[in-house]
Amino acid sequence: MILISGCLVGLECRYDGTSERNDPLLEALKDRSLVPVCPEQFGGLPTPRARAEIVGGDGHDVLAQRARVMDETGRDVTLPFIKGAKEALKLSQLLGIKEAYLKRKSPSCGLGAIWRKGQLVQGDGVCTALLSKNGIKVTCV
Ligand code: SF4
Repeated sequence: MILISGCLVGLECRYDGTSERNDPLLEALKDRSLVPVCPEQFGGLPTPRARAEIVGGDGHDVLAQRARVMDETGRDVTLPFIKGAKEALKLSQLLGIKEAYLKRKSPSCGLGAIWRKGQLVQGDGVCTALLSKNGIKVTCV
């Protein structure tokens, strides 16, 4: 069983109400059971929603309370981002999931690089950071 970003399977859960369906990935994983999640929706944020980014670090820093997640209206959405990551982890642990395929560059799902002020910077998203800390192997696509 694999955890996967909902937007990668075609759910319209992105901030702008669109998906990022990835057919080559779905073909490659067609023999696996996929469990789609959207950490930002899990955290209680609406869709569509204002675009958000991590300020002052990356997802690991958010979890350590050294950085915040702010949306483009200036609203602090740190708590919903952390709550959504925790819910995704809870679901993974309930189902015994050890592997996740998440959407690259996202402040929740990104691995190794996230968007900040229109540029890619080094770092992981909040959900990726929490899953990784808890032994789940994250692959970003
Ligand atoms: S990248 Fe992650 S948080 Fe963003 S829409 Fe896709 S599943 Fe949801």
